[in-house]
Amino acid sequence: MTKRVVTLAHYYTQPEIQQMADKVGDSLELSLFAREADADVIVFAGVRFMAETAKILNPAAKVILPDAGSTCSLVTQTDVAALKKWRNSYPDHVHVSYINSSAEHKALSDWIVTSRNVDDIIAHLYAEGKQVIFSPDRNMGAYLNFQYGYDMPLWSAVCEVHDRFNEAALDEALGAVSGAAHLIAHPESPLPVLKRAGYVGSTSGMLNWVREYQGSTTDVIFVATEDGILYNMGLARPDLDLRQAPIYAGCQCNSCPYMKMNTVEAVKRAQQGDGLLIDYLGESEMASARAPIERMLEFSARYYA
Ligand code: SF4
Repeated sequence: MTKRVVTLAHYYTQPEIQQMADKVGDSLELSLFAREADADVIVFAGVRFMAETAKILNPAAKVILPDAGSTCSLVTQTDVAALKKWRNSYPDHVHVSYINSSAEHKALSDWIVTSRNVDDIIAHLYAEGKQVIFSPDRNMGAYLNFQYGYDMPLWSAVCEVHDRFNEAALDEALGAVSGAAHLIAHPESPLPVLKRAGYVGSTSGMLNWVREYQGSTTDVIFVATEDGILYNMGLARPDLDLRQAPIYAGCQCNSCPYMKMNTVEAVKRAQQGDGLLIDYLGESEMASARAPIERMLEFSARYYA
């Protein structure tokens, strides 16, 4: 019998990879799709923590990452033994972790969040009188503390792509626009950049913001996130002047090297069964990592219904 192969692609992959996929989305959309996918094989054109999440949510499927090198700086900057020690130093706190984390990391967490639901889940926990620690993204945690007046202790890792957005270069770019200019930003960006943004939100949230933009088509919209999403934004609103936010003067370019390892050849090979097979997670580790993810999915189903 022919095996059913489902290919998933993150918005940060190149357009030609997105065109090869059955589903294109952000972390939350792809996690949900993976959980429900009627697939023997899931080819995950993204990075390793995403393929691990797909395996955790759909353990019966064979999950393949096209290039074993597709990691993420939020994972590589987090030593799990040190994280465990840090987590244990706050025994009365709830540990909330961003989905951009390894399976081992998730297994040490009480809740997993995505950039789409992080605000609401943490607000919910504080409303219940809980104390919260947040990992691994320092920029996202700093933004939440600033925006809502929390005092969450933060783990210190960053997305090496978003962390490069630069406020001075941004001010220069905004100042060079003669008409109206807007900035929308992903919360993995540094706090000084986020403070200048008119909208801060997830990759899908930013895409929706652009899709529904009612302002003039002569306005300039700077986008502070990975460059792959500009393709989707351009498809949604070809009439708008969309520009990637600068990382230094004169350079509007910021690309995730790990996402771009998903080449056409690598994805084709993975569809034939070649690539990194996510078969190294133990049952008990997967169960421990699944519980905080399911908690998030149940919350989202209730809260956003
Ligand atoms: S863009 Fe940043 S957070 Fe996303 S995979 Fe690349 S390094 Fe990780």
